[in-house]
Order: sequence, then structure tokens, then C-alpha cells
Amino acid sequence: MNEGPTYICTSCHQNWFCDSVVNATSVNIHTPANMSHCFTNFKSVQHIEWICHTCLSAIKKQKIPRFSIANKMRFPQKPKELNLYPLEERLLSLRSPYMQIPRGGQLSVKGNVVNVPVGVQHTINSLPHTLEKSCTISVKLKKKLASKKCDFSENVRPFAVICALHYLMRTSDLNKSSGIEIVEDWITEIAKINEEETQNENKIVQNKRIIRIKMIR
Ligand SMILES: [Zn+2]
Repeated sequence: MNEGPTYICTSCHQNWFCDSVVNATSVNIHTPANMSHCFTNFKSVQHIEWICHTCLSAIKKQKIPRFSIANKMRFPQKPKELNLYPLEERLLSLRSPYMQIPRGGQLSVKGNVVNVPVGVQHTINSLPHTLEKSCTISVKLKKKLASKKCDFSENVRPFAVICALHYLMRTSDLNKSSGIEIVEDWITEIAKINEEETQNENKIVQNKRIIRIKMIR
């Protein structure tokens, strides 16, 4: 328990605690040849190939383990666009899940899960659009706008959120049917504001010069 579930099963690629796995190379010799494709040569702790007891007992019965990679149960590759921080994920999520988690924060659920639909459009429109990709803004998430207490507070990267939204709108059926609109002409609006600001700054600088020249005279 101290080490955490860091042992990865060679067959199902799930994370396990030390007690739930055995060294796969020691059992590999005794397994039937037609089950060899369940061993993916995936090494984790101490650079050893481990296998979980669930997969091993199925292999011993000459059955392909239910969650094995050989049973096409591979996790899909996570695209780089979706490498987001927890609050950034919340901003884009079309559903707010409510569930009861037993004490101790274990990864299991008690009772029903309720999915509440969320309107993402308002969030997307409120996110400040900046030209700088490295810009971050502080976001506080509240259950009610009126309440003083916030439930979730984090710095988010607007550029990463917009990139992830573009990706989801291209690939996810749920997002395609959500009717979210991404305003693309924000960049021209910002360019216009920037131009006006620089013109104003130039005028101020020129005025300062005129005042200086007058002072010198
Ligand atoms: Zn396994």
C-alpha cells in the first residue's frame, strides 16, 4: 500500500498493488504456448514483467483474460490536446457527474451516478482570448454564483482549453451534437484593440515630446 498501485500487468495493462501480481517470466514457462500472445513484454517496477492474479488464473484455464490486450481491451492513446489540469477539464465537460465515494477517497462508487448536463457555451464565451499561448488565468468554480465559498480553484490555460475544445469538436460525437459554437474572429477583434491601444500610446508619447520641447524652449 505504501508504494501505491505501481505494478502494471503485462496482459491487461492495469495498475495493481504488489500483492496482486507475480513475476510473469517465472510463470511464462508453465503457460500453454497458445496463450503466449497475452504476454506483451510490458515491464514496470524493477524493470520486471508482472502479471495480475486475475489474468493468470484465466490463462491457466486456457482462456484469454477478459481485460487482456489480446482481447482488444487496450486503452486508447490520450491525445496531447487533452493533457489538461482538472479544472480545465471541468470547463469543457458537457456533464457534471455526481456520485458517492466511500470514505478514504478510494476509487470506487457507492449507489447511483447522476449526470447533470452543463452548458459549456457560456464558459467558452467568457474565457479571455489572448494572443499569448503561455497566459494563465485564475478560475474559481462555485456551486452557486451567490455562495461565497468556492469548491474548486485553479489556474487554467485558456489556449490549452480552446485547443482541447477544437479537438473534441472534431472527434467526439457528444461534442458535435452539443451545438457549441467557437467564435473564430476573436483574433481580428483583439488585433483591432491592440492597434487602437498602440496608436493611443504613440499619441501620448508624441504629446510628451511636444511638452518637453516646449519646456526646453
Ligand atoms: Zn491483468
